[in-house]
Amino acid sequence: MYRFQEEIDSCIDCKKCWDVCPVNMVTDGNRFTPQGKIESLAKIVAGEELTKDEYDNIYLSTRCGACDDVCPVSIPIIDIIQYERELLAQQGREPAKTTAISNNIIEHNSPGAKDPSKRFDWITDDLDIAESSEIAYMAGCWVAYSQPDIARATIRLLNHAGIRPMILKEEKCCGLFLLDNGHLEQLAEHAKKFVDYIESLGVKKVIASCPGCYMVLGKEYPKLYRELGFEVELSLNVFKDMIDDGRLKPKKLDMTVSVRDACPVRDSKAVPRSILESMGIGINELFDGKQVCCGGPAGLKPNFPEIADDIAMLTVKGYKDKAEMLASYCPFCVHHMEGACKSKDEEMNIRDISVLLAESVLGGKD
Ligand code: SF4
Ligand code: SF4
Repeated sequence: MYRFQEEIDSCIDCKKCWDVCPVNMVTDGNRFTPQGKIESLAKIVAGEELTKDEYDNIYLSTRCGACDDVCPVSIPIIDIIQYERELLAQQGREPAKTTAISNNIIEHNSPGAKDPSKRFDWITDDLDIAESSEIAYMAGCWVAYSQPDIARATIRLLNHAGIRPMILKEEKCCGLFLLDNGHLEQLAEHAKKFVDYIESLGVKKVIASCPGCYMVLGKEYPKLYRELGFEVELSLNVFKDMIDDGRLKPKKLDMTVSVRDACPVRDSKAVPRSILESMGIGINELFDGKQVCCGGPAGLKPNFPEIADDIAMLTVKGYKDKAEMLASYCPFCVHHMEGACKSKDEEMNIRDISVLLAESVLGGKD
């Protein structure tokens, strides 16, 4: 019996996973269902040839978890997809783009091999950043290189609440892409280096802006390496506590938004909504509150750009008859959807919740 065979054999063919999968939503003929993905495992374990659709289907997933959430017999579909990718990589059958991005993370510390000397270009003179502190701020690749206003808003809010965080001068990519693509040995080695470095600074808490970083550091590093000597917290959770205890006092912003929820923290959707409500912002739910991925993660965007962009359009078009803007708390969603809008010639009005909160509490715009 191979790993996961028992779970796959327990499938009752209910097709519930078909309906929630964003890839299946934007492609015809139910060619790329979550159920189809897990049914290929036996062939992959045996090293057999896959048809083109079967092979593509393994990489046509953002590992958003929507299928896991609805499977009535709790088949760990995203773990199986990760395992299939791990096996295909070991068999030398991984897509070249996936290998290239994985190597960028290991060799250059970011998926896009960005210049490490520019990682902290977001820092401006008004930000009060300590040389050393028990609290460290981790911007993450997408914020550091393409959405610096989120990092600045976060530090300004922390400063306002009396916290002077340090930065991690040797900040690394969290490695979510490695996790999604089954590069677990590489990620374990990466985690060891990053964790040892953070602990050597005497840091007791890392505050992350990106839900992906938060999930990978806080939940996956302990599994892949060891228990961490520091806590990991998502910046939104910190802000919610600060609003609750009165350290941050939001003022009303007169607007209505739809929320672009982040898949890695889809079990704590109340937090962003509570922060928006504290600013008097109206919320009209997208997809009736159901989770539909932005379409970018786990290699879907580089390997299948048209499908990834079509999934992004579900959000970009979906919010327009509900609200004047999208409120996001995932920099990768924003990055992917902005790219999709450019290729589809669409407009999108999107703001990050940390940036909105800084505007509400501190006044002015970045
Ligand atoms: S994780 Fe998301 S994209 Fe992947 S198969 Fe499941 S529902 Fe589809
Ligand atoms: S939801 Fe679960 S049981 Fe139903 S078809 Fe999908 S994998 Fe099978």
